[in-house]
Amino acid sequence: MQRVAQRLPSCNTFRFAACTAPRRAKSGTWMEGKLAQDTELVHAGVTPDASSGAILTPLFLSTTFTQESVAKYLAKGYSYSRTNNPTVTALEKKVAALEGGVGAACFGTGMAATTSVIGGVMQAGDHCVITDCSYGGTNRACREYWSRFGMEFTFCDFRDLDVIRKAIRPNTKLIFSETPANPVLTLCDLDEISKIAKEHGAYHVSDATFATPVMLRPLDHGCDMVIQSLTKYYEGHNMMTGGAVISATQELADKMKWVQNVNGNIVNPFCAFIVAQTSKTMALRVRQQSATAMKMATWLEAHPKVTKVVYPGLASFPQKQLADKYHRDGLHGGMLWFDIVGGSPAGTKLMDTIERPWSLCENLGATESIITACAVMTHANMLKEDRLKVGITDGFIRVSCGIEDTDDLIKALDRALAGI
Ligand code: PLP
Repeated sequence: MQRVAQRLPSCNTFRFAACTAPRRAKSGTWMEGKLAQDTELVHAGVTPDASSGAILTPLFLSTTFTQESVAKYLAKGYSYSRTNNPTVTALEKKVAALEGGVGAACFGTGMAATTSVIGGVMQAGDHCVITDCSYGGTNRACREYWSRFGMEFTFCDFRDLDVIRKAIRPNTKLIFSETPANPVLTLCDLDEISKIAKEHGAYHVSDATFATPVMLRPLDHGCDMVIQSLTKYYEGHNMMTGGAVISATQELADKMKWVQNVNGNIVNPFCAFIVAQTSKTMALRVRQQSATAMKMATWLEAHPKVTKVVYPGLASFPQKQLADKYHRDGLHGGMLWFDIVGGSPAGTKLMDTIERPWSLCENLGATESIITACAVMTHANMLKEDRLKVGITDGFIRVSCGIEDTDDLIKALDRALAGI
């Protein structure tokens, strides 16, 4: 008698029931049924190599692929690595499976993913409604780069659905959200924004880099596309840069692969190989980083020198209901920010004096805990007035929790705060 796993609808655990079905399986074939995300994280897209049995999809460092004959051009699916490469294909399949998409295109950076969406779905004369708080590079790409080609952008507060509705124009082609937003952590009501987009025949793309598919999958909330900077939680070890666009339809998936081929901004196979492996532990890391962030935020909130702490897990978080609706399994991620007594100069001093294990630098979502001065680093390319309007002051302290011991991190923060 064979035993098969049955998914309990209400929880993440499995119950095993007697099964009378004849046993046809053999080693190397996949069992039937839907797999949980933790299993997909390890296995999606990866197939042991047929010729050697190597458990990982090999790293194909090959520019071109020989063809058996002119008539059989592309019979094996590959011709040239700017277009497609087997290692990159494995990663694209993995990312698409994790995000619940029809297909994914993986790029050399997160910004390449963002600009490929904008350049892919918009043309001269089209309009985009975009959040006024996003990664600084996204803001710059719209304001300084794409607007040169006759595209129009309205930046507005995505916490307010009426503001989004009012910003829509007859030529609105794209609604661009980011949730949680870098760095202020405002959240978007994705279901409602997707409805607005559909009502007006526009696409809704959401940058969910801070959320990761472990916490939130925007395609489950009506979005047409998702952007991920793979540089962050997906890769998670500060080893590479990469980006992904995951699409809800075959038409959009094909368009993104076409844009990738035209622009030549595909992720290189070496980086694809790295992220295909390190992303396997993304859920473990995000759970640990979320637990650390919650403990740290709670500790900071009680500290006499701290005037404000923002973390979606705190009861004081202004959009707590949205956080609980959209973030799965009570996970709110590894990102938080705080203000201290003495304002911007004190914030800058804290970042200048924080000791290891903290690192003062850009990037986030890695195993290393990172403290970032957004005003001069990640968001320096926003206009100063736009930056201040959304609350990114000169001494804004952004924290990305790593996977070090939480108490060591808090001890170092305590020592830095004592010196203020
Ligand atoms: N989206 C978000 C939310 C980001 O934080 C970043 C980078 O910090 C990007 C996109 C761009 O990613 P990359 O640095 O890989 O180009």
